Amino acid sequence: RAKAEGRSGFRFFEPPMDRAAREALQVEGDLRLALARGEFELHWQPQCHLRTGRMTGAEALLRWQHPERGLLNPGSFLATAEETGLMAPITRWVLDAACRQGAEWSRRAGGPIRVGVNLSPSLFRGGGVLELVEQSLAGAGLAPDLLEIELTERDRFEDEAAVLKTLGELRTLGVRLAIDDFGIGYSSLLYARRLPVHRLKIDQSFIALFPGDRSDAAIVGSVISLGHELGMEVVAEGVENPAQLEALRTLGCDEVQGFFIGRPVPADRLDPGAAEARACRLPA
Ligand code: C2E
Ligand code: MG
Ligand code: MG
Ligand code: MG
Repeated sequence: RAKAEGRSGFRFFEPPMDRAAREALQVEGDLRLALARGEFELHWQPQCHLRTGRMTGAEALLRWQHPERGLLNPGSFLATAEETGLMAPITRWVLDAACRQGAEWSRRAGGPIRVGVNLSPSLFRGGGVLELVEQSLAGAGLAPDLLEIELTERDRFEDEAAVLKTLGELRTLGVRLAIDDFGIGYSSLLYARRLPVHRLKIDQSFIALFPGDRSDAAIVGSVISLGHELGMEVVAEGVENPAQLEALRTLGCDEVQGFFIGRPVPADRLDPGAAEARACRLPA
């Protein structure tokens, strides 16, 4: 504590950039230890099929239980992980943990429960994604079609040919592919056409004012039609109220995810067998 106060005494004389840089350095040091110390955990957000009301799976969302700063969301550390080359080892941990969870849930529920994992575009640059995924699936004994990989197209893929090749191989392996944050990325329509994906996840920014906002309603309706025309399922993210849910149902959206259906929670608070009805509390 004395040390912290001493530091804040200096802060006054320090340009703000230096402080930011030092904080980033601190995060980097802590991040390197986090894996070894077992400070990462996965929180899970349910995905529900709109017509049946069934929970079909859940998305793994990374959390860092930081010894001093408490539970951190990916927004506060993933950029640093990216810059410091820690994304690959972190992803290995995420994939292993997610595949094990999917296998356990599917066993307990007596039916398939799919797990979604977010993969950073940077991973495709170095190669080795296929092997990473194969190893996690084999280690957990999870059927490949119970793993869904979410690709965000917020950033442009640098070497598009290499990415397409890897995605094709993942698809051949039997893994499911989804474009995350669909609509806000570098080139949504191009990716929808080129990437061999099974699902589109409509970005939550289009759902926030939906269905009241006419532009958003038009976009959401069009994306659902587009996805279906391309033979894909469409998932809406960020569903927070029953009006959004009902409008999505009317438009024929396949699945929903969001605070209204369930917030991200630790695995032990999401029992796909027993808690199905609660997780997918769809109005009659
Ligand atoms: P995402 O994959 O689009 O995940 C959805 C984010 O929206 C999550 O934030 C989730 O908590 C939040 N969310 C879910 N439902 C609602 C809702 O109804 N309303 C609102 N306002 N927000 C909602 P989170 O957990 O902070 O994750 C942020 C992003 O970090 C994720 O966006 C994903 O791109 C990335 N991320 C998370 N876990 C991983 C990981 O293991 N690896 C990589 N590479 N990226 C990850
Ligand atoms: Mg995602
Ligand atoms: Mg998203
Ligand atoms: Mg996102």
